[in-house]
Amino acid sequence: MTVATILSRSQQGLDAPLVRVEVHVGAGLPAFSIVGLPETVVKESKDRVRAALANCGFELPAGHITVSLAPADLPKEGGRFDLPIAVGILIASAQLPPGPFDATELYGELSLGGELLSIRGVLPTALQGRRAGHTQVFPAVNLDEAALARNGRVHGAAHLMDVVSWARGMRPLSTAGEPVAGTMPGAVPDLADVRGQAHARRALEVAAAGGHSLLLIGPPGSGKSMLAQRLPGILPPMTEDEALETAAVRSLAGRGFRVEEWRRRPFRSPHHTASAVALVGGGGRPRPGEISLAHHGVLFLDELPEFDRNVLEVLREPLESGYIVVSRAGRQAEFPARFQLIAAMNPCPCGHLGDPAAVCKCSEARVAVYRNRISGPLLDRIDLHIEVPRVPSEVLASDEPTESSSAVAMRVLAARRRQLERQGRSNAQLDGPLVVSRVSAERAALRFLAGAMRQLALSARAYHRVLRVARTIADLSGSATVTSVHVSEAITLRQLDRRIAGTSISG
Ligand SMILES: [Zn+2]
Repeated sequence: MTVATILSRSQQGLDAPLVRVEVHVGAGLPAFSIVGLPETVVKESKDRVRAALANCGFELPAGHITVSLAPADLPKEGGRFDLPIAVGILIASAQLPPGPFDATELYGELSLGGELLSIRGVLPTALQGRRAGHTQVFPAVNLDEAALARNGRVHGAAHLMDVVSWARGMRPLSTAGEPVAGTMPGAVPDLADVRGQAHARRALEVAAAGGHSLLLIGPPGSGKSMLAQRLPGILPPMTEDEALETAAVRSLAGRGFRVEEWRRRPFRSPHHTASAVALVGGGGRPRPGEISLAHHGVLFLDELPEFDRNVLEVLREPLESGYIVVSRAGRQAEFPARFQLIAAMNPCPCGHLGDPAAVCKCSEARVAVYRNRISGPLLDRIDLHIEVPRVPSEVLASDEPTESSSAVAMRVLAARRRQLERQGRSNAQLDGPLVVSRVSAERAALRFLAGAMRQLALSARAYHRVLRVARTIADLSGSATVTSVHVSEAITLRQLDRRIAGTSISG
């Protein structure tokens, strides 16, 4: 009777808990059983391991083979444990020495011929392995992704026989190259392509500088999507930690690692027909949704009123907390979801309200119903809302150069640094009570705001929103205090406050 233990890891949200794969070969009639894996994956895993061992010229030991994966109560996907199970069987039947596998974690799904196939969730697994000080062996196709964790003891293997040769001291495994350092060059949409839209460009800059959410209201073809796509290009560069978190979420979603996306802020633009699971995450083996794929980047919801109202309601929590908990059948998984929200909508159902180039045929009542589809509580969490009018054709045709994203990005970065030095977070993350104590507003500015509040019948929530936005505008101009000028511009970036006050939204 022989026992072999191989280390591996399961995957649970962004966590990768250690799993011990124990193989026990005992006397008795030939049998092969696996405990600790979901019933549905056991048979497939047994078939793959059995075939791979046979095709590599090994024999399943005669006797009773019991494989147990502990702890038993972790959710486990089958594929990644094929390699540790196969190696465990070889050690337990004395076909391989156990020594090389001390403090070593193994991963990989086996093809029937013994090739190691790609697994998902490599990056979170690699990060935990580095913390534990373990050697890790991944399928060779996953090596670039694993290298991001900067664990010097990460290896890749393309085939079961590579692992066997390495354990017998015949041939080293391949090692990870240098992880990708900076952002890869690539086509990021540039603000230089946007003609006209001075007001919207300014709103985008303020949104980027303070991390504020933004709603664009305008007729079809006015360039709302074009503007939204340019937000990631003016946001501050990602830190290494942010890049790792974003890449780890991608990895969990089974989207693999793409070098050109490393350190690039994500831009996710789910369609309004997307299901709640696709948007916020979930499923039998919980996977991150669009809001988590947008972590440290931008979530763009075009045609906001067309989204299911219940789905939009779910966004409120992550907008405040920066994470989402999805649960299904008693299992919970937590995924990060600190995204910047940009939404767009038409001014009315036909899209032409206030458009000088077309006639709107919507009744006032229809316009009201359309706008009310967005709940007040969600709207309350959007700091900026502006009109994006159609650009006159002579402006579109003009070849006068407009400012590029890199120039705007420099101002955004300087403004964001001021916020981090002052309060350790962006202005958008200042909570109600903090706003008043941190914004350093001049007395005249507060008086001006109080007057505007009365005139526009603003809510207390709107009061804090205006102050936060004014703080960002002051940061962009390098001002230590918030003045009436900053407050006044902040109010122009909150179009819907005026609608609520009963004045017309568009000219
Ligand atoms: Zn209309």
